[in-house]
Amino acid sequence: MKLSGKSTYTQFIKDKSRELGFDFCGIAKAAFLEEEAPRLETWLRQNNHGQMAYMANHFDKRLDPAKLVEGAKSVITLLYNYYPHQDICQEGSYKVSKYAYGEDYHFVIKKKLQTLIHLIREEIGDVNGRAFVDSAPVMERTWAKKSGVGWIGKNSLLLNKQQGSFFFIAELIIDLELVYDGPIKDYCGTCTRCLDACPTDAITQPYVVDGSRCISYFTIELKEAIPQEYKGKFKDWIFGCDICQDVCPWNRHARPHKEPAFEPSEELAKMKKNDWEEMTEEVFRKIFKRSAVKRTKFAGLKRNIKFVGEG
Ligand code: SF4
Ligand code: SF4
Repeated sequence: MKLSGKSTYTQFIKDKSRELGFDFCGIAKAAFLEEEAPRLETWLRQNNHGQMAYMANHFDKRLDPAKLVEGAKSVITLLYNYYPHQDICQEGSYKVSKYAYGEDYHFVIKKKLQTLIHLIREEIGDVNGRAFVDSAPVMERTWAKKSGVGWIGKNSLLLNKQQGSFFFIAELIIDLELVYDGPIKDYCGTCTRCLDACPTDAITQPYVVDGSRCISYFTIELKEAIPQEYKGKFKDWIFGCDICQDVCPWNRHARPHKEPAFEPSEELAKMKKNDWEEMTEEVFRKIFKRSAVKRTKFAGLKRNIKFVGEG
Protein backbone atom coordinates (compact mmCIF):
# COMPACT_ATOMS: atom_id res chain seq x y z
CA MET A 1 0.00 0.00 0.00
CA LYS A 2 1.23 3.48 -0.85
CA LEU A 3 1.86 6.10 1.80
CA SER A 4 -0.69 8.84 2.22
CA GLY A 5 -0.90 12.28 3.80
CA LYS A 6 1.34 15.34 3.68
CA SER A 7 3.11 14.69 6.97
CA THR A 8 3.78 11.04 6.16
CA TYR A 9 5.24 12.02 2.76
CA THR A 10 7.39 14.67 4.39
CA GLN A 11 8.71 12.33 7.04
CA PHE A 12 9.40 9.66 4.43
CA ILE A 13 11.41 12.07 2.27
CA LYS A 14 13.40 13.38 5.23
CA ASP A 15 14.16 9.86 6.50
CA LYS A 16 15.24 8.63 3.07
CA SER A 17 17.43 11.66 2.46
CA ARG A 18 19.27 10.91 5.67
CA GLU A 19 19.68 7.25 4.71
CA LEU A 20 21.17 8.41 1.41
CA GLY A 21 23.79 10.40 3.28
CA PHE A 22 22.37 13.92 3.14
CA ASP A 23 23.07 15.76 6.38
CA PHE A 24 20.18 18.19 6.33
CA CYS A 25 16.88 18.38 4.52
CA GLY A 26 14.52 21.35 4.51
CA ILE A 27 11.42 21.98 2.48
CA ALA A 28 9.94 25.23 1.17
CA LYS A 29 6.76 25.96 -0.71
CA ALA A 30 7.50 26.40 -4.40
CA ALA A 31 6.54 29.93 -5.35
CA PHE A 32 7.88 32.84 -7.37
CA LEU A 33 10.83 34.39 -5.54
CA GLU A 34 9.26 37.81 -5.19
CA GLU A 35 11.85 39.28 -2.85
CA GLU A 36 14.78 38.02 -4.88
CA ALA A 37 13.74 39.43 -8.24
CA PRO A 38 14.92 43.03 -7.72
CA ARG A 39 18.06 41.86 -5.90
CA LEU A 40 19.06 39.51 -8.69
CA GLU A 41 18.40 42.20 -11.24
CA THR A 42 20.62 44.73 -9.44
CA TRP A 43 23.39 42.19 -8.92
CA LEU A 44 23.40 41.35 -12.60
CA ARG A 45 23.14 44.96 -13.68
CA GLN A 46 26.22 45.82 -11.65
CA ASN A 47 27.98 43.06 -13.56
CA ASN A 48 28.88 41.20 -10.37
CA HIS A 49 28.73 37.95 -12.30
CA GLY A 50 31.82 38.73 -14.40
CA GLN A 51 31.95 36.32 -17.31
CA MET A 52 29.51 33.90 -15.72
CA ALA A 53 26.89 34.26 -18.42
CA TYR A 54 24.86 31.39 -17.00
CA MET A 55 24.03 33.62 -14.04
CA ALA A 56 22.31 36.11 -16.31
CA ASN A 57 20.56 33.55 -18.48
CA HIS A 58 17.22 32.04 -17.57
CA PHE A 59 16.28 34.97 -15.39
CA ASP A 60 12.64 33.79 -15.16
CA LYS A 61 13.51 30.21 -14.48
CA ARG A 62 15.80 31.25 -11.68
CA LEU A 63 12.95 32.95 -9.91
CA ASP A 64 10.06 30.63 -10.62
CA PRO A 65 10.27 26.90 -9.86
CA ALA A 66 7.09 26.29 -11.87
CA LYS A 67 9.11 27.22 -14.96
CA LEU A 68 11.38 24.27 -14.22
CA VAL A 69 8.78 21.73 -13.11
CA GLU A 70 5.19 22.08 -14.20
CA GLY A 71 2.85 22.39 -11.25
CA ALA A 72 5.78 22.65 -8.80
CA LYS A 73 4.61 22.59 -5.18
CA SER A 74 7.71 21.95 -3.10
CA VAL A 75 11.39 22.76 -3.23
CA ILE A 76 13.38 20.27 -1.17
CA THR A 77 16.86 21.42 -0.18
CA LEU A 78 19.44 18.82 0.71
CA LEU A 79 22.88 19.47 2.14
CA TYR A 80 25.75 17.09 1.61
CA ASN A 81 28.84 17.56 3.74
CA TYR A 82 32.25 17.65 2.05
CA TYR A 83 34.46 18.81 4.90
CA PRO A 84 37.62 16.70 4.50
CA HIS A 85 39.36 14.50 7.06
CA GLN A 86 42.67 16.15 6.26
CA ASP A 87 43.61 19.51 4.85
CA ILE A 88 45.89 18.60 1.97
CA CYS A 89 46.85 22.19 1.31
CA GLN A 90 49.64 22.57 3.82
CA GLU A 91 52.66 24.87 3.66
CA GLY A 92 54.74 24.16 0.60
CA SER A 93 51.84 23.27 -1.61
CA TYR A 94 49.39 25.19 -3.72
CA LYS A 95 45.83 25.17 -2.56
CA VAL A 96 42.75 23.59 -4.01
CA SER A 97 39.28 24.23 -2.65
CA LYS A 98 38.12 21.45 -0.35
CA TYR A 99 35.08 20.71 -2.45
CA ALA A 100 37.32 19.56 -5.27
CA TYR A 101 39.51 17.05 -3.39
CA GLY A 102 37.68 13.99 -4.60
CA GLU A 103 35.33 12.89 -7.31
CA ASP A 104 33.16 15.52 -8.98
CA TYR A 105 30.25 16.11 -6.63
CA HIS A 106 27.79 16.59 -9.47
CA PHE A 107 27.89 12.90 -10.28
CA VAL A 108 27.97 11.68 -6.69
CA ILE A 109 25.00 13.78 -5.61
CA LYS A 110 22.95 13.50 -8.77
CA LYS A 111 22.89 9.73 -8.36
CA LYS A 112 21.57 10.08 -4.83
CA LEU A 113 18.90 12.54 -5.91
CA GLN A 114 17.75 10.18 -8.61
CA THR A 115 17.47 7.40 -6.05
CA LEU A 116 15.42 9.70 -3.85
CA ILE A 117 13.01 10.54 -6.68
CA HIS A 118 12.74 6.87 -7.48
CA LEU A 119 11.88 6.03 -3.87
CA ILE A 120 9.30 8.83 -3.75
CA ARG A 121 7.62 7.46 -6.87
CA GLU A 122 7.69 3.94 -5.51
CA GLU A 123 6.20 4.78 -2.12
CA ILE A 124 4.07 7.83 -2.83
CA GLY A 125 2.98 7.60 -6.43
CA ASP A 126 3.23 9.42 -9.71
CA VAL A 127 5.22 12.44 -8.59
CA ASN A 128 6.77 14.69 -11.19
CA GLY A 129 10.08 16.26 -10.27
CA ARG A 130 13.57 17.26 -11.22
CA ALA A 131 16.85 17.14 -9.39
CA PHE A 132 19.37 19.96 -9.48
CA VAL A 133 22.95 20.16 -8.35
CA ASP A 134 24.49 23.34 -9.54
CA SER A 135 23.38 22.41 -13.02
CA ALA A 136 20.27 24.41 -13.74
CA PRO A 137 19.20 27.90 -12.87
CA VAL A 138 18.06 27.24 -9.34
CA MET A 139 18.80 29.76 -6.60
CA GLU A 140 20.04 27.14 -4.20
CA ARG A 141 21.08 29.37 -1.35
CA THR A 142 17.83 31.25 -1.39
CA TRP A 143 15.83 28.04 -1.26
CA ALA A 144 18.10 26.62 1.39
CA LYS A 145 17.50 29.70 3.49
CA LYS A 146 13.74 29.56 2.97
CA SER A 147 13.68 25.94 4.04
CA GLY A 148 15.50 26.61 7.30
CA VAL A 149 18.66 24.54 6.78
CA GLY A 150 20.76 27.64 7.34
CA TRP A 151 21.12 31.36 6.82
CA ILE A 152 23.11 33.26 4.24
CA GLY A 153 26.23 34.62 5.87
CA LYS A 154 28.10 37.86 5.21
CA ASN A 155 30.34 35.85 2.87
CA SER A 156 27.15 35.08 0.89
CA LEU A 157 27.41 31.37 1.62
CA LEU A 158 24.89 29.19 3.33
CA LEU A 159 25.75 28.63 6.99
CA ASN A 160 24.32 25.85 9.06
CA LYS A 161 24.33 26.30 12.81
CA GLN A 162 25.30 22.71 13.54
CA GLN A 163 28.02 22.26 10.94
CA GLY A 164 29.04 25.45 9.18
CA SER A 165 29.29 25.91 5.44
CA PHE A 166 31.23 23.07 3.85
CA PHE A 167 28.21 21.60 2.10
CA PHE A 168 27.02 20.95 -1.38
CA ILE A 169 23.50 22.19 -1.86
CA ALA A 170 21.14 20.11 -3.94
CA GLU A 171 17.53 20.70 -4.83
CA LEU A 172 14.56 18.57 -5.71
CA ILE A 173 11.57 20.39 -7.15
CA ILE A 174 8.45 18.26 -7.12
CA ASP A 175 4.73 18.69 -7.77
CA LEU A 176 3.75 17.22 -4.42
CA GLU A 177 2.56 19.28 -1.50
CA LEU A 178 4.52 18.72 1.70
CA VAL A 179 4.85 20.21 5.17
CA TYR A 180 7.05 23.29 4.89
CA ASP A 181 9.88 24.47 7.11
CA GLY A 182 10.41 28.14 7.86
CA PRO A 183 13.57 30.21 7.64
CA ILE A 184 15.88 30.60 10.65
CA LYS A 185 17.57 33.76 11.87
CA ASP A 186 20.94 35.13 10.85
CA TYR A 187 23.67 34.23 13.35
CA CYS A 188 26.53 36.28 11.88
CA GLY A 189 26.02 38.95 14.52
CA THR A 190 28.82 41.50 14.70
CA CYS A 191 31.42 39.15 13.18
CA THR A 192 33.30 40.46 10.14
CA ARG A 193 36.02 37.84 9.84
CA CYS A 194 35.23 36.87 6.27
CA LEU A 195 35.26 40.50 5.12
CA ASP A 196 38.54 41.16 6.91
CA ALA A 197 40.22 38.02 5.56
CA CYS A 198 39.27 38.17 1.89
CA PRO A 199 42.55 38.96 0.11
CA THR A 200 40.97 40.53 -2.96
CA ASP A 201 38.30 42.53 -1.11
CA ALA A 202 35.66 40.62 -3.04
CA ILE A 203 33.21 40.90 -0.15
CA THR A 204 32.52 44.54 -0.85
CA GLN A 205 30.05 44.89 2.03
CA PRO A 206 28.35 42.42 4.34
CA TYR A 207 26.34 39.92 2.27
CA VAL A 208 27.60 41.25 -1.06
CA VAL A 209 30.28 39.36 -2.93
CA ASP A 210 31.56 40.84 -6.13
CA GLY A 211 31.97 37.57 -7.98
CA SER A 212 34.21 39.24 -10.54
CA ARG A 213 36.85 39.95 -7.83
CA CYS A 214 36.76 36.55 -6.21
CA ILE A 215 39.67 34.09 -6.44
CA SER A 216 37.22 31.29 -7.17
CA TYR A 217 36.04 33.18 -10.21
CA PHE A 218 39.54 34.03 -11.41
CA THR A 219 40.88 30.51 -11.01
CA ILE A 220 37.85 28.60 -12.32
CA GLU A 221 35.57 30.72 -14.47
CA LEU A 222 37.74 33.37 -16.07
CA LYS A 223 38.90 32.35 -19.52
CA GLU A 224 41.40 35.14 -20.10
CA ALA A 225 44.53 36.26 -18.28
CA ILE A 226 44.11 37.10 -14.60
CA PRO A 227 44.41 40.90 -14.12
CA GLN A 228 47.88 41.90 -12.93
CA GLU A 229 46.47 44.05 -10.14
CA TYR A 230 45.69 40.83 -8.24
CA LYS A 231 49.26 39.58 -8.39
CA GLY A 232 50.49 38.41 -5.00
CA LYS A 233 46.99 38.28 -3.52
CA PHE A 234 45.97 34.70 -4.15
CA LYS A 235 47.66 33.20 -1.07
CA ASP A 236 48.60 30.06 -3.00
CA TRP A 237 45.05 29.25 -4.12
CA ILE A 238 45.12 27.79 -7.62
CA PHE A 239 41.64 26.28 -7.81
CA GLY A 240 38.91 28.03 -5.88
CA CYS A 241 39.42 29.64 -2.48
CA ASP A 242 38.20 28.66 0.98
CA ILE A 243 39.49 31.62 2.98
CA CYS A 244 36.11 33.14 3.83
CA GLN A 245 34.93 29.72 4.99
CA ASP A 246 38.09 28.72 6.85
CA VAL A 247 37.94 31.86 8.99
CA CYS A 248 34.24 31.56 9.75
CA PRO A 249 33.67 30.64 13.40
CA TRP A 250 30.70 28.44 12.46
CA ASN A 251 33.07 26.14 10.62
CA ARG A 252 34.62 25.18 13.92
CA HIS A 253 31.64 22.86 14.09
CA ALA A 254 32.46 21.20 10.76
CA ARG A 255 32.72 17.43 10.94
CA PRO A 256 34.49 15.25 8.37
CA HIS A 257 32.30 13.83 5.63
CA LYS A 258 31.50 10.15 5.27
CA GLU A 259 31.69 9.98 1.49
CA PRO A 260 34.51 7.78 0.19
CA ALA A 261 34.21 9.38 -3.27
CA PHE A 262 35.31 12.72 -1.79
CA GLU A 263 38.63 11.43 -0.50
CA PRO A 264 41.61 12.92 -2.34
CA SER A 265 43.79 10.49 -4.26
CA GLU A 266 47.13 9.72 -2.70
CA GLU A 267 48.86 11.49 -5.55
CA LEU A 268 46.88 14.68 -5.03
CA ALA A 269 47.38 14.62 -1.28
CA LYS A 270 51.16 14.44 -1.72
CA MET A 271 51.56 17.21 -4.30
CA LYS A 272 54.08 19.91 -3.48
CA LYS A 273 54.58 23.16 -5.35
CA ASN A 274 57.15 21.74 -7.73
CA ASP A 275 54.84 18.80 -8.58
CA TRP A 276 52.15 21.27 -9.59
CA GLU A 277 54.59 23.37 -11.57
CA GLU A 278 56.00 20.38 -13.42
CA MET A 279 52.69 18.65 -14.03
CA THR A 280 52.19 17.42 -17.57
CA GLU A 281 48.86 17.20 -19.32
CA GLU A 282 48.99 13.44 -18.99
CA VAL A 283 49.34 13.61 -15.20
CA PHE A 284 46.63 16.28 -15.04
CA ARG A 285 44.23 13.99 -16.91
CA LYS A 286 45.05 11.08 -14.68
CA ILE A 287 44.79 12.85 -11.34
CA PHE A 288 41.71 14.84 -12.19
CA LYS A 289 39.92 12.27 -14.32
CA ARG A 290 36.82 12.34 -12.16
CA SER A 291 37.41 15.65 -10.45
CA ALA A 292 35.76 19.08 -10.67
CA VAL A 293 39.27 20.52 -11.21
CA LYS A 294 38.93 19.41 -14.83
CA ARG A 295 36.72 22.44 -15.28
CA THR A 296 39.71 24.78 -15.60
CA LYS A 297 41.28 22.51 -18.21
CA PHE A 298 45.00 21.90 -18.14
CA ALA A 299 45.86 25.27 -19.68
CA GLY A 300 43.70 27.10 -17.14
CA LEU A 301 45.30 25.35 -14.19
CA LYS A 302 48.77 26.05 -15.58
CA ARG A 303 47.83 29.71 -15.99
CA ASN A 304 46.76 29.81 -12.34
CA ILE A 305 49.91 28.07 -11.12
CA LYS A 306 52.09 30.48 -13.06
CA PHE A 307 50.17 33.52 -11.83
CA VAL A 308 50.31 32.43 -8.21
CA GLY A 309 53.82 31.02 -8.34
CA GLU A 310 55.25 34.23 -9.70
CA GLY A 311 53.30 36.37 -7.26
S1 SF4 B 1 36.33 32.78 -1.87
FE1 SF4 B 1 38.23 33.87 -1.32
S2 SF4 B 1 38.37 35.56 -2.77
FE2 SF4 B 1 36.25 34.80 -2.86
S3 SF4 B 1 35.15 36.05 -1.41
FE3 SF4 B 1 35.85 34.27 -0.26
S4 SF4 B 1 37.83 34.87 0.62
FE4 SF4 B 1 37.32 36.34 -0.98
S1 SF4 C 1 32.95 34.85 9.11
FE1 SF4 C 1 31.52 35.84 10.50
S2 SF4 C 1 30.46 37.34 9.26
FE2 SF4 C 1 31.47 35.94 7.86
S3 SF4 C 1 29.91 34.42 7.39
FE3 SF4 C 1 31.06 33.64 9.12
S4 SF4 C 1 29.93 34.32 10.95
FE4 SF4 C 1 29.20 35.51 9.21
